Amino acid sequence: MPQKILLIDDSKAIHTLVKTVLWNEAVELTYCPGGESTLATALSLQPDLILLDVGLPHPNGFELCRRLKSDLKTLAIPIVFLTGATTVNERIRGWELGAVDYITKPFEATEFLVRVRTALRTKHLIDLLARKAMIDGLTGLYNRSHFEQRLESEIALARADNHPLSCILLDVDNFKHLNDQHGHLFGDEVLRNLSKLLIEGCRDQDIVCRYGGEEFSILLPNVSAGAAIELAERLRVMIAERPIRLLNAEVSITCSFGVAQALATGVGIIEQADKALYCAKSAGRNRVLAATIEHVAA
Ligand code: GH3
Ligand code: MG
Ligand code: MG
Repeated sequence: MPQKILLIDDSKAIHTLVKTVLWNEAVELTYCPGGESTLATALSLQPDLILLDVGLPHPNGFELCRRLKSDLKTLAIPIVFLTGATTVNERIRGWELGAVDYITKPFEATEFLVRVRTALRTKHLIDLLARKAMIDGLTGLYNRSHFEQRLESEIALARADNHPLSCILLDVDNFKHLNDQHGHLFGDEVLRNLSKLLIEGCRDQDIVCRYGGEEFSILLPNVSAGAAIELAERLRVMIAERPIRLLNAEVSITCSFGVAQALATGVGIIEQADKALYCAKSAGRNRVLAATIEHVAA
């Protein structure tokens, strides 16, 4: 997918010039003449780079930069100022507002290109790092830290839209025994296989995470407890019925599941699901249990 550049400049001549300089680059260029709707444009486009004219009529470039940097959803987009002759103080102001570079107009095409490429390369690396920080290295699923962030935002969304949010916690049964019998590397492979099964069994909008060790969590936006229990039961059967073949061995695993739905009272959904999971383990494993009102009250 090409990287996206948003050019915010009220001069048609600059639009044409930038388009000409970038014609052979693998980028998608969008123009915006400035004005109050600029923020909304940046918000919906989510560009990888903003080229921002300083001398715009109200709001000017510095003001737009300040607004873009104070919104969490546009904060990480690098901004390069396009400006006529400026004083040192003005340039310092731009840096302090969070710009990554300055290009002085009239600009030299090759230098402009190099500066744009550098800013885009840095953005690409930051994106890679941000992605790595949310992914579990063994399974490729989201990690616990991402799960916790998403949980917070999904609870807020569910409350705002008044739609349900459910969560499934599942834990591999007697996994220590499997490790002891076949070795840790074999155990790792089983966890990778299980992760693929979970992804296969869930919808695209479900958030499947490795919660830790041999425990997984699935956040289900817009799903009630009843539907979440049905999904957990389908996953349980799918896992139990599909033996995993690795090297010369074939093993079957089972998992225990705890299911909970977020409540308006704000009682922790994870605590509820965890208690249900604990009960599923105590009741003999390889089963799905839902949080009950007693769990919630406890
Ligand atoms: P239970 O049914 O009660 O959950 O029993 P269990 O044996 O699955 O649970 P226990 O907590 O006693 O042991 C979990 C084991 O999972 C111990 C730990 O070494 C193993 N484990 C945790 N993370 C990994 C991993 O990344 N790879 C492998 N191979 N094993 C792991
Ligand atoms: Mg276990
Ligand atoms: Mg465990």
